[in-house]
Amino acid sequence: MNTQDALDVLKGKGYKYTDKRKHIIEFFESQNRYCTAKELLENMESSFTGISFDTIYRNLHLFSDLEILETTELNGEKHFRLKCDQHHHHHFICRNCGVTKEIHHCPMEQINEELRQYTIDDHKFEIYGFCPSCQ
Ligand SMILES: [Zn+2]
Ligand SMILES: [Zn+2]
Ligand SMILES: [Zn+2]
Repeated sequence: MNTQDALDVLKGKGYKYTDKRKHIIEFFESQNRYCTAKELLENMESSFTGISFDTIYRNLHLFSDLEILETTELNGEKHFRLKCDQHHHHHFICRNCGVTKEIHHCPMEQINEELRQYTIDDHKFEIYGFCPSCQ
């Protein structure tokens, strides 16, 4: 997902592409990592004086509903990143800086053996720890 893809999703669902929304998407595009609402707010305050947490949250939740963003819980706090749209992969996520590394091995290949009678329609697999620069 890049800024143009996100724009297409918003348009396709009938949502307006405002300066704030554009800024939010560009912010996430510039970060290859999970960020908190607070980090986004701090980034936006200089361009949008007086922007409220409420506005940030409403847009973050709209973007996750539209699957422009994906979310995870780190240290008890919700984090967001631009949704990956390349081929299927998983993430190592740094607990400190939120940086992600793609893992191309999918554990479902083994797990499917144990779930023969079951219909699986989705799965989520994340590895947490500290990246080389945060160790
Ligand atoms: Zn990814
Ligand atoms: Zn890190
Ligand atoms: Zn997988």
